[in-house]
Amino acid sequence: MMNLTSLYRWYEQNRRVLPWRDTRDPYCIWISEIILQQTRVAQGLDYYMRFVRRFPDLHSLAQAEEDEVLVYWQGLGYYSRARNLHRAARLLCEETGEMPTTYDGLRRMPGVGEYTAGAIASFAYNMPYPALDGNAYRVLARLFDCDTVFDTSSGKRYFHGLAEQILDKDDPRLFNSAVMELGALQCLPGQPDCEVCPLKTQCLAYKAGTVALLPVRKPRITLKDRYLTYTIYIAEGHTLIYQRQGKDIWQHLWEFPLQETKSPVRADSDFLYKDYLHILSHRRLHARFILRPTASLESVFKELAPTLPSLRMVAISDLSDYAFSRLTQKAIEDFISTSGLTS
Ligand code: SF4
Repeated sequence: MMNLTSLYRWYEQNRRVLPWRDTRDPYCIWISEIILQQTRVAQGLDYYMRFVRRFPDLHSLAQAEEDEVLVYWQGLGYYSRARNLHRAARLLCEETGEMPTTYDGLRRMPGVGEYTAGAIASFAYNMPYPALDGNAYRVLARLFDCDTVFDTSSGKRYFHGLAEQILDKDDPRLFNSAVMELGALQCLPGQPDCEVCPLKTQCLAYKAGTVALLPVRKPRITLKDRYLTYTIYIAEGHTLIYQRQGKDIWQHLWEFPLQETKSPVRADSDFLYKDYLHILSHRRLHARFILRPTASLESVFKELAPTLPSLRMVAISDLSDYAFSRLTQKAIEDFISTSGLTS
């Protein structure tokens, strides 16, 4: 049995003031948890504030068009998570119109895994479920001096069991918050300053001198290379974009007409171009954006439309109404906003 008094005292003195901590609203906690899976707290805070201002509850999210939800997600990556948020909101509004109040109900929501369900159940309802994010796994691995690989399904199950051994059933909200915050601020990757840690007398890795070796991850996967060439056709302040379809990356996001090749394409010095290297979880994208002023967008449109049914001619000033991948957004900023090439 762990003594948690010093951890709780440390938490009260050090915890960050964050809007999703001061609410018991399961909807807001759900949104914050999904956003924080994508990004650091500082950046996530802006996204969270914008998102809940526009979609303050389940119903406003369910009633929105998917495109608009994606615009509010733009830049966070993993757009399937935004689509799942939207889908879950619609499903719940068709059923009860409210967030589930049980762990199993939360788990049935699209995109809600063990961690998110545990976080909502404990933070909103103070139910006794562990919530293990990356920071909490690190704290547990060190407290128990456990070198089991944590980021596999069997590893997660094992760590879940460890967390249940020490979970404070009287106040799971406080327990989960304190452990996650300790991992975020004190029990840092590498070699943290254990001398000032509230758990140092109970930490087995500290006693064994194995802190810097923990936690243990599975080996990194090798990334697959893809070569993408985008053409930004421009005429009279307008350009051409289309919406991605099919089960590939960036489903339902918009982009410029694309040619994908098996190897890098040669540079064409007739047009301005810029190359980007963009890393996703399983892929390394070598992207080239070519700026191509053209006399008639209509004729390019007619040429491309048969293979790109969602192709649209849009004003460059209206591009902000569409959701793009972070890569394309960067190219838009580099080429169009900053170069003033709007006509
Ligand atoms: S003593 Fe060190 S390794 Fe152990 S929980 Fe504290 S900061 Fe982490």
